[in-house]
Amino acid sequence: MESLVEEILKTADREIALIGEKVLEGRRISEEEALKLYRSNQLTLVGLLAEFVNRKKNGMNAYFIINRQINPTNICMYQCDFCAFGVTRSDPKAYEMTLEEILKKVEETVRAGGREVHIVGGIPSHWDYGRYIDIVREIKKRFPSVAVKAWTAVEIHHMAKISGKSYEEVLKELLDAGLDAIPGGGAEIFSERVRRIIAPYKASAEEYLEVHRTAHKLGIPTNVTMLYGHVETLEERVRHMATVRELQDETGGFQVFIPLAYWPEGTRLGGSRTSSVDDLKTIAVSRIFLDNFDHIKAYWVTLGERVAQIALNFGADDIDGTIEEERIVHSAGTDSARGHPAERLVSMIKKAGKVPVERDTFYRTIKVYD
Ligand code: SF4
Repeated sequence: MESLVEEILKTADREIALIGEKVLEGRRISEEEALKLYRSNQLTLVGLLAEFVNRKKNGMNAYFIINRQINPTNICMYQCDFCAFGVTRSDPKAYEMTLEEILKKVEETVRAGGREVHIVGGIPSHWDYGRYIDIVREIKKRFPSVAVKAWTAVEIHHMAKISGKSYEEVLKELLDAGLDAIPGGGAEIFSERVRRIIAPYKASAEEYLEVHRTAHKLGIPTNVTMLYGHVETLEERVRHMATVRELQDETGGFQVFIPLAYWPEGTRLGGSRTSSVDDLKTIAVSRIFLDNFDHIKAYWVTLGERVAQIALNFGADDIDGTIEEERIVHSAGTDSARGHPAERLVSMIKKAGKVPVERDTFYRTIKVYD
């Protein structure tokens, strides 16, 4: 593949060719160079460079997991303008799951061979601290084989606030209850300018990062996201990635970077959907820029299946999982299915020319579908 990239680089303009040489030599690119890749109209070349980096790390493997997303409530006190999921308690669409309802969903997941539950939701002002801990503890008590990936940094920050505990104390209690990993939601874009517009009330960028830093210190693996395609500039996206790269240099605790395409329907912020070109460039630039990450996820729910398949040839190596019942992005109008059986994900990956690998929460291989 290297000689193919070298040949194609000869056709690139000088600035891109120089960045390409750096990538081939395994050297880190700067924020300025990432911006040049973003602004380049040589999409296939940027994709090829990203795929070169990906294949060095992951070969032809593309990962998925048999999991379920559980969103225990959509009631949320923060009412972020970009979010179509969170509603007030009096809204006719408001719902709250009981612990028994949550456990029933986990039981279904276990019966279907699921290995992970991914639990995130709104932030209701009437929930007490113990409820968050109990959900994790009861799941783990009844279904010890399932990995519990639960509560975003925004939720953990809120738990610390209402309990008067430090992040470390909250995370230790969650660990004690059986927490396995923390999802990446809530990062949005770290720029203060952007957060003031789209999510002025919830945890700040510093608070989000401090929760993750503390989790890494305690040995809890976490994921990190970037919500793009709303009011942010390309510079703010690249700065976001640079902040993520800096924390990864410091702790090494992130498992995967997940770019999330913004869906505007039903939000107060409005706007339009991202283009496929923007989606693919974002996957590719993040793959090249985040040299200290093993995995880049093409989340099929926000990208759509077709773009996610192409993304597997633009630097991504993971399409997430079977999910079963996604509600958050569906509130904002995505036309993807709410979930897919494992066979569909295997077929999606094979048709993209990659080798499907079922993984667990920690990227350990469960099964290779040759
Ligand atoms: S993004 Fe999260 S914190 Fe903001 S309104 Fe939606 S559910 Fe609530």
